[in-house]
Amino acid sequence: MPFPDRDAARDAQTAVCQACGAIGLLPLHEVRNIPVSSCVLVTTRQAAAEFPVGDMLLVLCEACGFIQNQWFDPALVDYSQAYEESQAHSPRFMEFATALVDRLIVDHGIRAKRALDVGCGKGSFLELLVERGDNEGIGIDPAIAPERIDPEVANCLELIRGYFDETSMLTGDLIACRHTLEHIPTVERFARLLAGAVRRTDDALLYVEVPDSLRILDEGAFWDIYYEHCSYFTPGSLGRLLSSVGLTPTGLELGFLDQYILGFARAAGTPVAVGDLQRIIAAAGRFTDTVEATIAAWDAKLLGWAAEGKTVVVWGASSKAVSFLTTLPAAASVEAAIDINPYKQNQYLAGTTVQVLGPASLPDLAPDVVVVMNPIYLDEIRAAIVAMGLSPHLDAL
Ligand SMILES: [Zn+2]
Repeated sequence: MPFPDRDAARDAQTAVCQACGAIGLLPLHEVRNIPVSSCVLVTTRQAAAEFPVGDMLLVLCEACGFIQNQWFDPALVDYSQAYEESQAHSPRFMEFATALVDRLIVDHGIRAKRALDVGCGKGSFLELLVERGDNEGIGIDPAIAPERIDPEVANCLELIRGYFDETSMLTGDLIACRHTLEHIPTVERFARLLAGAVRRTDDALLYVEVPDSLRILDEGAFWDIYYEHCSYFTPGSLGRLLSSVGLTPTGLELGFLDQYILGFARAAGTPVAVGDLQRIIAAAGRFTDTVEATIAAWDAKLLGWAAEGKTVVVWGASSKAVSFLTTLPAAASVEAAIDINPYKQNQYLAGTTVQVLGPASLPDLAPDVVVVMNPIYLDEIRAAIVAMGLSPHLDAL
């Protein structure tokens, strides 16, 4: 407990919104001692149990609808090689990414052009843009892994290991920034950098993808709140941020089972309506009750299964799993986390004593219950389990 004197009410009162600069934000949710990285896997049970922790105070800006972790300390998060965020091993995720790339190519003319991916991760999105649209790709990320790039497209791809900042001076006909902005505390500064990249190329398109926090507020989805995510957007607050840095939001929609915001913007164009502020404030007002109810319901389920002597595993060694397992006291009874990504297997989830195993371990584990960490993968997971001749009870967040 590094900061026992932290006071949520006082710190919210003096907080400055990192999106619009308003002072005095509304406290929403406070959690202490959560793992500072939920995508970093560690090799021993002891290292997982001793994983560094931080505190979170989510505060809402009633002027723009943006939510930030007021107690976020960027020095605690290390986005290095060990960071395993890739979802490219899932057919369902690749189906989403492929449809998105095809839409960028067909509807937005990103063919035989130059695509910049800010926070490109392992580069799989750029690979699709190169393969399907004959594009050239540039990616920048502190955790690039060139050895994982398909050699067939490697000569059309430039991957830069590093952070996108004032010195980067990169641009493209498409500037994509997917699942990155929610990791950035100073979002207004970062949005300015993206706007600069857009202005350096005539008629460039910016595509931003972040989780939708309105759904998190509505559902009390505590598993979607974790330390690396210091910034939380709704379509409206993302639109307002993009407008504030001089861009025109031309599309703000939900996708991937309404979990993600798909934001499109240009330097000039026909703007879409940017609403939802009252809706965010209303949902935020209910959030404390909603999240307490969600936590109580899942804890009761796990306790019930444990009392019946059932073997429970979670499927998906993701950030959601880390939040789920570290929030629920009854989660100590979970036997293992199953994941199809071989880079995660045989390691431990940060802050837990739960080991990640491949699906091939399931027959030996013989689980009675499989809790699916993301409902979008339910069909894919059910098919894999049935193919193994197993018939556990399936539940999903
Ligand atoms: Zn604000």
